[in-house]
Amino acid sequence: MSAVRSKFDEIGRVLREHSRFAILSHVRPDGDALGCQIALALSLQQLGKEVRVWNEDGMLEKYSFLPRAELLNKPPAAPEDVDVAIALDTAIQNRLGTAFAAVRSAKMWINIDHHLSNPGYGDLVYVDPTAPATGQIIFDLIKNQGFPFNREIAENLFAAISTDTGSFQYPKTSARTFEIGAQLVCTGINVGRLNQQLYENYPRRRIELLRELLRTMRFASEDRVASFSLNLKTAAALQVLPEDNEGLIDHLRAIRGVIVAVFFEEMSDGKVRVSMRSKTDDIDVCVICQKFGGGGHTLAAGARVRGTLAEVEQRVLEEICDVVKSQS
Ligand code: 5GP
Ligand code: MN
Repeated sequence: MSAVRSKFDEIGRVLREHSRFAILSHVRPDGDALGCQIALALSLQQLGKEVRVWNEDGMLEKYSFLPRAELLNKPPAAPEDVDVAIALDTAIQNRLGTAFAAVRSAKMWINIDHHLSNPGYGDLVYVDPTAPATGQIIFDLIKNQGFPFNREIAENLFAAISTDTGSFQYPKTSARTFEIGAQLVCTGINVGRLNQQLYENYPRRRIELLRELLRTMRFASEDRVASFSLNLKTAAALQVLPEDNEGLIDHLRAIRGVIVAVFFEEMSDGKVRVSMRSKTDDIDVCVICQKFGGGGHTLAAGARVRGTLAEVEQRVLEEICDVVKSQS
């Protein structure tokens, strides 16, 4: 704990001693990435700091209800001067996408994350793979350093932690996660309303997308591996946004007997986005994704693999089936 505290002290000192910050997160952001960015930005703003909040994809439609969502923007085309760049929830630096180029002049980089595969880039690094969400780390940092905290920050952190834990369900959800949840609720956030905004406000096209994905569902390794895929044609016909498919893979993971779930999404750049989930620590999907140039966590990982949808499906499923077979 004291090592954690001294790392928080180091980060806290840098945050206090500088004045211009850029807070960044990964491309194709999720609730954890965006919620953490806004939460930390609000706290630093209240400390009197000048804060830019950039993500390559900008604010997603589905998270635009977050308090002060307007703070988050796409990065400018020309770099801007900042003292410190802070990467949140971003396993490797190139997943910052175009946000990276916009902060070239930063004198210092802080890297705060919970991905096991994070190599520790940057000058000041805090990576805790036991944290179920980067939001949990940001909460602890703000509290530990006595930084400003209010209900708007709490709502953003609740969204971050809730989405990255599958509503406080995934295995890394700990007593600490529930304690933090309780403290966030104590700030007066409306849990029912927030959960409705997070989980009961999907666009119809997302469910239509699920219907199409289920049509492509297939099983391998005696039904222990389940996958489905989305090609560009179907995505265009349904007019889906990239953000629409976040979480749909959970339908595969939820099947009894399935231990690895995979979602293949054809991209327009000649690559396939592969999303993978495991139900057991014995099958580390981060290791499998790293073989294809990706990364993530033991139970949730991803990669972008060059090739056609059919080629990538075959290569990746073969690799998974080899691992599953060797485990049984
Ligand atoms: P998802 O499947 O939800 O897109 O991602 C699951 C996890 O894997 C996330 O924590 C995400 O950061 C990581 N991840 C997804 N795609 C990639 C990738 O292309 N490269 C790396 N390094 N990590 C990825
Ligand atoms: Mn995360």
